Amino acid sequence: MKVSATGETCVVSSLCVYRVPEVFDQDEEGTVRVIDPDPPAELHDAVRSAARGCPTRSIRVE
Ligand code: SF4
Repeated sequence: MKVSATGETCVVSSLCVYRVPEVFDQDEEGTVRVIDPDPPAELHDAVRSAARGCPTRSIRVE
């Protein structure tokens, strides 16, 4: 799995950080940051769910 996020469209909702703090964090302005772009298998479902739940579709999962 490869996870990336687009800071330009992130609206700082924090949903992804709340759901999967092992993978998503926020910078000092609240914009999403991916801290683990290749998460372990046990987090894949949670990451996909977070990507689906992002209100601006800013999270990409390949
Ligand atoms: S869920 Fe989407 S909009 Fe909200 S913090 Fe994460 S990337 Fe940004």
